[in-house]
Amino acid sequence: MRYISTRGQAPILSFEEAMLTGLARDGGLYLPEIIPQMSRADIAALVGVSYEEAAYRIMQPYVGDTFTEDEFRAIIARAYAGFGHAARAPLKQLDSGHFLLELFHGPTLAFKDFAMQLIGQLFEASLKRSGKRVCIVGATSGDTGSAAIEAFRGLEAVDVFILYPHGRVSEVQRRQMSTPSEDNVHAIALDGHFDDCQARVKDMFNDFEFRDAVGLAGVNSINWARVLAQVVYYFTSAVSLGAPHRKVSFTVPTGNFGDIFAGYIAKRMGLPIDRLVVATNQNDILHRCLSTSEYKPDGVIPSISPSMDIQVSSNFERALFEAYDRDGAAVSQLMEELGAGAFNVSQGALQALRENYDSGRCDEDETRATIRDAYTRTGELLCPHGAVGVKVAEEQRDAATPMITLATAHPAKFPDAVETASGLHPPLPPAMSDLYEREERITRVANDLGAIETLIRERTGN
Ligand SMILES: *Cc1c(COP(=O)(O)O)cnc(C)c1O
Repeated sequence: MRYISTRGQAPILSFEEAMLTGLARDGGLYLPEIIPQMSRADIAALVGVSYEEAAYRIMQPYVGDTFTEDEFRAIIARAYAGFGHAARAPLKQLDSGHFLLELFHGPTLAFKDFAMQLIGQLFEASLKRSGKRVCIVGATSGDTGSAAIEAFRGLEAVDVFILYPHGRVSEVQRRQMSTPSEDNVHAIALDGHFDDCQARVKDMFNDFEFRDAVGLAGVNSINWARVLAQVVYYFTSAVSLGAPHRKVSFTVPTGNFGDIFAGYIAKRMGLPIDRLVVATNQNDILHRCLSTSEYKPDGVIPSISPSMDIQVSSNFERALFEAYDRDGAAVSQLMEELGAGAFNVSQGALQALRENYDSGRCDEDETRATIRDAYTRTGELLCPHGAVGVKVAEEQRDAATPMITLATAHPAKFPDAVETASGLHPPLPPAMSDLYEREERITRVANDLGAIETLIRERTGN
């Protein structure tokens, strides 16, 4: 399988190259040149197979001959072995015709584990073969960093440095980053905001001398392998509800558009999905764009669903590329306009987007009310992100088609917001119940590129 960039100018890469590169050299995002198809018989044959077996069958055509069958199966097995539920992504019923896909049984209690755990194993297998070492550096507002640390801890060919804004992540998120004891894990508390962390990471990637010396690599949400890993649970959940013989719809709490774009890929592969609903919090740029055609960032307002507090939704570029019939020049033009403040999607592309995506928003009061109501009506304690999804799904679903809402994090990851809304303090799962007693290791640094680079060079011996 060959991978092409959404801006049409970067070299065509193999799966392995696209995975290790992340962002394309022309600033674009990689996508497979053709989308492999699953026939109705292929989909029907997923009934009753394990999550890992389904993952192998769905992802294999994208990975091609990068790994042998045994290698790739072993990678998948290791990726999901640490999940706290046999089904990996279990489906729960909320109401007649409304189901919740629980994506929070991974080691850091958020759906990002599905992609990050796989990518950790893919990197390790690939680097072992080449004898190379890489240094993963990432910025996080909480969930991505903990998922990355959990995925790479203890792996031989990788060091992982995560920059988070000092004092601005939840205690659970901080402890998930600071308590792993492996030497290759480095939780860095930066004196600044999340935007500062992101800016310093970008600076490091632009410092080519440093970048090459330490072997910098990125695993942010634009990495194609992350999107690919997320395609799997759209299939497994739809098959549980009768696909390919019955259509289902999905509502997805959305920020960077990576998760819902995986749903689009599943649909393009042949999964009978009726509607894909984008659910946003008060940072509703995606909902506004799909409603009006104008994409105009106007500043993030912090919310109780912080993992969706986004104004520049990186994976939306992939959806635009598809809506513009894979015209890289048109996408480049839009991104240039965005650099100057905003862009407008053409009428044709807007129509194409609306054929694939519906959208809705849920404000802070509605989020809290949904947590409260869902608990009263069903006994299910939702995290604020899942609650945004459930609220929008309730507004948009119809009686004819089952709706699956993605529950992207465990309520115990956002205990304060959940307690304020419901009066209940969500307990951590048993495997994590000693998180508050574990010893923390944190390095605090100034918001200064030189200081951060020196630290990374010292720790990696470069
Ligand atoms: C990252 C995240 C999201 C948003 O996912 P995208 O792929 O960025 O759209 C939603 N909920 C939680 C809990 C997350 O961590």
